[in-house]
Amino acid sequence: QSDKLKQLKEVKSATTDGAEIKLLANISSADDLEAVFDNGGEGVGLLRTELLFMDRNSFPTEDEQFEFYKKVALQSKCKSIIVRTIDIGGDKQLPYFGLPAEQNPFLGYRAIRICLDRTDLFITQLKAILRASIFGDLKIMLPMISNVQEVRQAKTIIAQAKQELLQANTPFNAAIEVGIMIEIPSAAITADILAKEVDFFSIGTNDLCQYTLAVDRMNEKISYLYDPFTPGVLRLINYVIQQAHQHQIHVAMCGEMASDPLATLLLIGMGLTEFSMSATAIPAIKNIIINNDTIKARDIYNKVMAMDSSDSITQFLQENTI
Ligand code: PEP
Ligand code: MG
Repeated sequence: QSDKLKQLKEVKSATTDGAEIKLLANISSADDLEAVFDNGGEGVGLLRTELLFMDRNSFPTEDEQFEFYKKVALQSKCKSIIVRTIDIGGDKQLPYFGLPAEQNPFLGYRAIRICLDRTDLFITQLKAILRASIFGDLKIMLPMISNVQEVRQAKTIIAQAKQELLQANTPFNAAIEVGIMIEIPSAAITADILAKEVDFFSIGTNDLCQYTLAVDRMNEKISYLYDPFTPGVLRLINYVIQQAHQHQIHVAMCGEMASDPLATLLLIGMGLTEFSMSATAIPAIKNIIINNDTIKARDIYNKVMAMDSSDSITQFLQENTI
């Protein structure tokens, strides 16, 4: 069966009634790109940059970071690459950063919160990404956004990074797109406000699920509660997609739900057209897309949104997905 799936590489990702669905990949370095194109991925919806900061004794310099992003850009075959700024803290700690232990690391000093506090670190990363942006279609994505002020502050710092490059006569793509992860419930609920500030959204269901349900995503004991098919989570995802459409910005999903075959038609029914996942998951999701149409997806969506529990939703999706 996997051979058969591999043959889908050249097949266009579209439903039987012609709706094009973009299948992108989540990667951590340029080395992952070969597998992306081997599996028919059309670009990168999430470049996690934490790897670049891990397994070392100090922060990577601007030049070291530049080389990393440039390598990805040069191997991107002109496909777009969404570079997420550092998402450290929470489950991703850096020994050399010397952050004090926290009672609730997932609710603590992490990701964009660190970047807006330690603007020196943030500017260094932004300048490196901007410099690399002349070698490929790079976009900037901010993680763990919880309110609009954080977006505005980050945009001010991006403008400052650009200004510094300009003054040094260093080339960069001045029109680089800036988007945000939607992975905190307050961001999802205010998607209408946030959509006015950015070029795109990417729904991070791993954290969105954790924070919406108050379920630690690492805790085995309560993992039965960690379920993206819970109506509360589905309503948030649906709202984010509707608001992105209404404000005419791109919306993708880069959390694990994007690679769950049970979710594919439901999400297409919500209007989602961009999915980002690990490269190896792409063929199986494409296989679902090319064997179904948007009428069925819309029907599944209407029925699921009227259901009251993740159990009934999951059972219904199991019975209605090929
Ligand atoms: C997410 O939260 O869904 C996500 C894609 O980010 P990460 O898994 O890196 O937290
Ligand atoms: Mg996340």
